[in-house]
Amino acid sequence: MENFIVSARKYRPATFDSIVGQQTITNTLKNAIKNHHLAQAYLFTGPRGVGKTTAARIFAKTINCLNIDLEKNPDLIEPCNTCESCQSFSQNASFNIMELDAASNNSVDDIRRLVEQVRIPPQVGKYKVYIIDEVHMLSTQAFNAFLKTLEEPPSYVKFILATTEKHKIIPTILSRCQVFDFKRISVEDIAKYLRFVADSEHVQAEDEALHLIALKADGGMRDALSIFDQLVSYTNANVSYQNVVENLHVLDYDYFFQISDLFLSSDITSVLLVLNDIIERGFDGQHFLIGLGEHLRNLLISRDVKTIDLLETSASIKQRYYENANKFSSAFLLKALDINTQCDVNYKTSNNKRLLIELSLMQMVALGSGLLDPVSKESAPGLPLTKKTPKIESVPQKAPAVEMPQVQVNEPVKETPIKEQVANKEPEASTETPLTETKKPEESPTRIQRVPKGMGLGVSIKAEENSKSEEINPDAYMLGKEDIADDFTQEDVDKICDEFLEGIKNQQSLYATLKSNKALILEDAVVQLHVYNEAQRSALSDKLFELVKSLRVKLNNYKIKATIKIIENGKTMKASTPIERYNAMTEKNPNLKKLTDNLNLELEF
Ligand SMILES: [Zn+2]
Repeated sequence: MENFIVSARKYRPATFDSIVGQQTITNTLKNAIKNHHLAQAYLFTGPRGVGKTTAARIFAKTINCLNIDLEKNPDLIEPCNTCESCQSFSQNASFNIMELDAASNNSVDDIRRLVEQVRIPPQVGKYKVYIIDEVHMLSTQAFNAFLKTLEEPPSYVKFILATTEKHKIIPTILSRCQVFDFKRISVEDIAKYLRFVADSEHVQAEDEALHLIALKADGGMRDALSIFDQLVSYTNANVSYQNVVENLHVLDYDYFFQISDLFLSSDITSVLLVLNDIIERGFDGQHFLIGLGEHLRNLLISRDVKTIDLLETSASIKQRYYENANKFSSAFLLKALDINTQCDVNYKTSNNKRLLIELSLMQMVALGSGLLDPVSKESAPGLPLTKKTPKIESVPQKAPAVEMPQVQVNEPVKETPIKEQVANKEPEASTETPLTETKKPEESPTRIQRVPKGMGLGVSIKAEENSKSEEINPDAYMLGKEDIADDFTQEDVDKICDEFLEGIKNQQSLYATLKSNKALILEDAVVQLHVYNEAQRSALSDKLFELVKSLRVKLNNYKIKATIKIIENGKTMKASTPIERYNAMTEKNPNLKKLTDNLNLELEF
């Protein structure tokens, strides 16, 4: 492979159409030639290696080509590569093109020499083209010497100034140039071009390998081609993904997929071992953080087919992301990204960089296994949430409870307490703020801190082991369906509740209670279940997740919530309006009425 010609040179585009990734610019230039609208000076700006100089050379060659016939072939605006002018351009022997690299020739004398030649008209062809590369490097004096010529050049002279740092170009120059902003070339485009080069050179190359090279080149075709050349010679023309990973010292996707899987399996040990492996292989911590951030972002955008094309990877890696993405909730990925970003920000100033990364990884593991709530208070509403602690209010009160919008008046009573629990996993769930609580000290209510399995923060590790898959993301079935709310009837609910009851037949007392007390449909798709005592309530709340899920899926209504109400044995439930319930309460406890009046509370129904 010694005789492998440097691709960057051999495959340097020779026509406008072969310039990769800058179509808007090449089209504009072609149209300018076609319509005889050539500017006196152009400024090509953009990152290195994206085709600025190449475009400038093709432009110079084209406007000098002797075979361009705008009358006969108005749409063929490409150099013929065969005429005398084109030939001399191709052999770097044309007198019509002057290139000056201002990075190394930036003195006044250099510019003067150049300016002197401006006065001599072209011998062959129509135009003399001066390309000044890295023009921002010219010294101030050189700039000034150049400015004069730029102001009044002979008609046969065209200037093309190129720079990677547009902001360093003084306004007097900017205003005299037509400016073209060259874009970073997309990974996809670079990879495609590398594929073309590989095939033309009969080099074995895997798609993933070419994508990785393109990624490493960061938008620059020249870099991509020179990396490609190096790899062809290192690997004896067998450019496999593994070879590229080893030679380019890039972190393999496999590492990140491995780590994100471990986030879900609560396996802190393995995560730390993978990190250790990466560090031992000589990767810098920050390098790892950037890679992990990219990986999490890729997972996030792969959750939606609409954004999956934002992934700059090969088709097979895209597929892998797509398959993996739905293991994670958006909330998890956002929070993990947040942790990662924080770590990245603090990395430079940290005294124990490794510990910082390890801590972040541990946080992500905790997050992935549900021990940390990914939904912070300020999280954006409307995101699919992984977990949410249902607000459990358990205050002894007189039956029936008054439910006012936003407030709930609770009241201590001597009889059977009614406890109500809302299994609600939406962010605005905490509407149950007790407005007032008049309670006698001896009746201090016990707040129930139990959290139903799969529904919140307080999930014990034991519970977790039992139903890991559900713990990973209990709301996975909701994703993307949060707004679906089909109508349903009492009959539908009864049917599903009956099916559900079949599954808890072994819990005889609960089974019998639920069998004899039908679920009620309250407003806002709240399904209310009725039990006789705390023990039953607790047993049912363990199963509530399952029932709610079943109701939501089978009724195609993802707004359904469930509440459990403790009723007195023998009482049958009927739906009552809030005012009825309020009246019933005040009847039993006149103090409530007094309180309402004294505080000037208005009831909204
Ligand atoms: Zn020609």
